Amino acid sequence: MITVLCGGVGAARLLGLLQREVADLNYCAVVNVGDDLVLHGLTICPDLDTITYTLANLNNEVTGWGLTDETWRVNRELAELGGEAWFQLGDRDLATHLYRTERLHQGATKTEVASELARHHGVTLPILPVSNDAVATFLETDIGELSFQEYFVKHRHAVPVSKVTFRGAEVAVPTAESLTAIQNATRVLIAPSNPVLSIAPILAIPGISEALRARRNTIAAVSPLIGGRALKGPADHLMTELGFEASSYGVAAYYGELVGHWFIDEVDASQASRIEELGASVTVLPTIMTQPESASALAQGIGTWLNS
Ligand code: GDP
Ligand code: CA
Repeated sequence: MITVLCGGVGAARLLGLLQREVADLNYCAVVNVGDDLVLHGLTICPDLDTITYTLANLNNEVTGWGLTDETWRVNRELAELGGEAWFQLGDRDLATHLYRTERLHQGATKTEVASELARHHGVTLPILPVSNDAVATFLETDIGELSFQEYFVKHRHAVPVSKVTFRGAEVAVPTAESLTAIQNATRVLIAPSNPVLSIAPILAIPGISEALRARRNTIAAVSPLIGGRALKGPADHLMTELGFEASSYGVAAYYGELVGHWFIDEVDASQASRIEELGASVTVLPTIMTQPESASALAQGIGTWLNS
């Protein structure tokens, strides 16, 4: 089994690609919960839902998040009432959050609910929240401390960040399922997710880093930065704001000794030798998954490493 550490969109694309093109292997997703929030009394798990929706081919390509064929009647009414409508919840998507919230009230765990939602949508790949406990990403910014969604959605990740904290992480317990998935995996992949906002909160949960540190040679990562830029979101400028280079090398330096092998984009070929100096091996290849040809090349490269 291959275990993939996941945020949202970058991870969902990688999982979909591997399932389609390196189909002879079994995959399992260990997913960030630092973006999760309670809004209108509803428990919302954006990264878990992005992965489930994408693997079910229900992801909304227009918005880049949420469900396809979405309507917005509830959110419009809410806005007219003067309610908190900035976190746009679609009518279809709301059913997911209503279902999850009720199941959690009945005593189900986040892991159980994620599994029920995946099963409902015909997704067989295990989608495992890294922890059932509450972990909340907060950012210290020029305009004060913001919760993750205030930063990401309300302020469109446009305010400079000086520090990121994962509240609750130090006392959170990884689920037995996610810890086992890491320990039993023949290989671990770190998705091209935001290193600071998607992967770091997974690593911050006690036990996860320890399980990974024992096995550097079997861990590879795909760089989320291409030519120093993120395809979406703030990964590039966050690296700079936190004192790292906004480049594939910078991401490799950020993960340090955790990663044994890197997949970096062709446009970053000149950085390979600097990454090798960090003690990792490097494959240079196309890494843009939204273009079929480069996605296939990436899948082939990862497949070779996974089967080696
Ligand atoms: P979020 O939780 O939905 O914000 O998404 P993630 O944290 O999983 O991923 C965001 C990162 O995915 C961004 O830094 C993007 O650059 C990266 N990303 C998205 N699509 C691709 C792709 O096709 N190739 C690569 N290399 N990175 C990608
Ligand atoms: Ca996310």
